[in-house]
Amino acid sequence: MQFRTRAIHVGQECDPQTGAVVPPIHVTSTFVQPGAGTWGEFDYSRSGNPTRKAFERTLADLEGGGYALAFATGMAATHCAMMLLGPGDHVVAGSDIYGGTYRLMHKVLDRVGVKVTLAPSTDLAAFEKAITPHTKMLWIESPGNPQMSITDVAAVAAIAKRRGVLMGIDNTFASPVLTRPLELGADIVMHSATKYLGGHSDLLGGALVVRDKGLFDRLYFLQNATGAVMGPFEAFLASRGLKTLELRVREQSRTALLLAEWLAGDFRISRVLYPGLAAHPGHELARRQMDGAFGAMLTIEVPGGLAAAKRVCESTKLFQLAVSLGAVESLISQPVLMSHSSYDSAARAAHGITDGLIRLSVGLEAFEDLRDDLDRALGT
Ligand SMILES: *Cc1c(COP(=O)(O)O)cnc(C)c1O
Repeated sequence: MQFRTRAIHVGQECDPQTGAVVPPIHVTSTFVQPGAGTWGEFDYSRSGNPTRKAFERTLADLEGGGYALAFATGMAATHCAMMLLGPGDHVVAGSDIYGGTYRLMHKVLDRVGVKVTLAPSTDLAAFEKAITPHTKMLWIESPGNPQMSITDVAAVAAIAKRRGVLMGIDNTFASPVLTRPLELGADIVMHSATKYLGGHSDLLGGALVVRDKGLFDRLYFLQNATGAVMGPFEAFLASRGLKTLELRVREQSRTALLLAEWLAGDFRISRVLYPGLAAHPGHELARRQMDGAFGAMLTIEVPGGLAAAKRVCESTKLFQLAVSLGAVESLISQPVLMSHSSYDSAARAAHGITDGLIRLSVGLEAFEDLRDDLDRALGT
């Protein structure tokens, strides 16, 4: 079956007891057991909950994986993957990873003795060179944030295989509609379900998806032992989001491409970073790797620096000034003051996060309205 059909039907079978087309939300902390010391399918909602499981089954199917785990947030999911590591272990991470992942790696993992090296995952030779005998995991993102850099997922997975290390990827920006990293050889796919999977700015959630049963068992143990699971209401909303995921992502990507093309020809903009534009360094790779569209995130740079970018971000009406992304509502943000404010200025400079950058999350509004909104905000 096709992606959008599976998004509606896998894991979302009607309720056998009542025939309800939409399965009920299982708001329970605990489950009655058949006997003392004998267990049913579910026993306690931290360990497993039917509404959470339904979402996990749908997402695992869409990512082409065997097993998914749903978390309270995306960061809880990334943290769980990082708990596979211990003192002395080393991670090589892409240099344009999500700001929260950067903070987790540099301010939390370092305290438990896990070392991290950032290297550009778009430069495979440099990325591989950062691997040491202590390296246990590679961690990448594609498209990367906020440059929209495209990493060759299959090539990084091949490096990981050859060097005998795990490879994890934050697939939040692409979503499984556009990139399915497990099919390209990745070991762990991570999502902030807060973004495209949920898609309506009304939930926090995260997920890990894997194919290997042994790896799943280790992650399940860590999740259950530490407890940052997705709640049943969020799981219901996330499942509801998945049903329209493909339609939303394809339509939002279509509008993003139109906006990118319009902005690229505008004298008030100094740079447009969007993998759908032929001028983007990742364009050819994105055409091969991403499934028929380039995503709905784009970054622009205005020539006037911090103040000019701030003025634009504070002037749009439809593009609302907020962090986060991936929802039907378009959002605008200034990375240097918002998503990447936890970077020190040297790290910001090293990662090309300049003062004039503006990040757009293109929603489901009409292209013409979004264009007019930006046109007004950019001024004359
Ligand atoms: C938002 C985001 C996260 C973190 O997810 P939360 O749900 O906010 O914890 C991780 N990676 C990327 C790419 C994100 O956009």
